[in-house]
Amino acid sequence: MDKKTFRENAHKAVDWVADYLENIEQFPVKSQVAPREIFDQIPDSPPNNQEEFDAFLEDLDEKIMPGITHWQHPNFHAYFPGNSSYPSILGEIITSGIAAQCMIWETSPAAAELEEKMMEWLKELMDLPANWHGVIQDTASTATLAAILSAREKVSNQEINRLGFRSQQLRVYCSSETHSSIDKAVKIAGIGSENLIKIDVNERMAMEPESLKAAILKDIANGRTPCCVVATLGTTSTLAFDPLDEISRICEELGVWLHVDAAYAGSAFILPEYRHLKPGLERANSYVFNPHKWLMVNFDCSAYFVKDKTALLNTFSILPEYLKTQTHGNINNYRDWGIPLGRRFRALKLWFVLRSYGSEGLKSLLRKHCELGKWLETQIDDHPNFELITPAAMNVVVFRWRQDDKSTDQLNIINSDILHTVNASGKAFLSHTKVKGKYAMRLVAGQTNVQLTHIQKVWKLIKETAQNVKI
Ligand SMILES: *Cc1c(COP(=O)(O)O)cnc(C)c1O
Repeated sequence: MDKKTFRENAHKAVDWVADYLENIEQFPVKSQVAPREIFDQIPDSPPNNQEEFDAFLEDLDEKIMPGITHWQHPNFHAYFPGNSSYPSILGEIITSGIAAQCMIWETSPAAAELEEKMMEWLKELMDLPANWHGVIQDTASTATLAAILSAREKVSNQEINRLGFRSQQLRVYCSSETHSSIDKAVKIAGIGSENLIKIDVNERMAMEPESLKAAILKDIANGRTPCCVVATLGTTSTLAFDPLDEISRICEELGVWLHVDAAYAGSAFILPEYRHLKPGLERANSYVFNPHKWLMVNFDCSAYFVKDKTALLNTFSILPEYLKTQTHGNINNYRDWGIPLGRRFRALKLWFVLRSYGSEGLKSLLRKHCELGKWLETQIDDHPNFELITPAAMNVVVFRWRQDDKSTDQLNIINSDILHTVNASGKAFLSHTKVKGKYAMRLVAGQTNVQLTHIQKVWKLIKETAQNVKI
């Protein structure tokens, strides 16, 4: 492809994206293909000769798009959203055009300095502690692993990095509702899954601080070393908020690293009305939330903050000869702030989004999403055969069909059937969770362009489907 054809094809590609987004509601939200259906349509060997871009686009429409689940469809209500927006897409296009590898300051000073400034902007927007230092990671999973590794090195005085594990038995604590990325992180960090202690939750699925304290004290009495507590603001299953104020006081008193995972709900701290969930955060050692979930920034963009920059740098810095530079001064080499050496220029799309919406634009969009959650909560509350499994929080609604003459097991089957029938219709995509043995449908009203009409549509579909599902 030469420069002239690149320019022509680039226009076609942008038109393709614009058309796709304008017509997205014509696709089934959840891909309806069977396993291997896509794989079998792609030739077994790569081509010997050059092919033209028009042929790629044709195959994209015919062979690939049927196998895409449309995350930007407004009736995508599953998991948590992975939002995008026009300014963010433009940022991604330009980032891929610049194609800089932003491992250290010298490999693109603008990338390092814009990233530092964007993290300052997020702190101001969300009223986060002014003394924190921020860095963009690819995902919350990576950020949480970085936190646990930093806690490990802090508690062992950098010994495990140097000597490996010897006789220490480190312990990490989280609630039974915590995201699976914490289970993964303790395995990778060499701490071991049996040293991850899952603390009980209360009826709203939030961590019991007294049980946390008792577990830590018991471990200390038994010669084990508490390493890190992971508290969640907005659990994945039911958007529960661990009581951070109490947890952070326990961590401070007992000298344990506190990492706070607010991967999804953290974006809501741009809204003052949700900041009452935040007290205690100023005592945390590290914090992560994902602008790539609910702040209209394309995946990947995870904002990670630490109080003690040295603890992070002590864990990750490396300085081989070929990376030594002449630069002195107040600069950040983000290679030393996380796991990968190579880094994408992710600050650009975040900058574009924050400027394009402005803080007021983002606030009103998030408020609208929360109002949609409230609307659905009211409908479910008023319906004789549906019930909320937990009170709705922000824009996450967890609910089920209920019928007094059915057992829990029967209701679990009915609700699973309703969910799968709704998803198979292609008209909406919800996911599920299980809360204390009860199978529940889980709807998030958080795609960038979701409107009341979309929520009304899916609610009608759920009600009709429930009437038709029989066991
Ligand atoms: C989504 C989520 C994660 C994982 O996020 P990734 O960026 O995909 O790694 C972690 N914790 C919580 C609470 C989440 O909702």
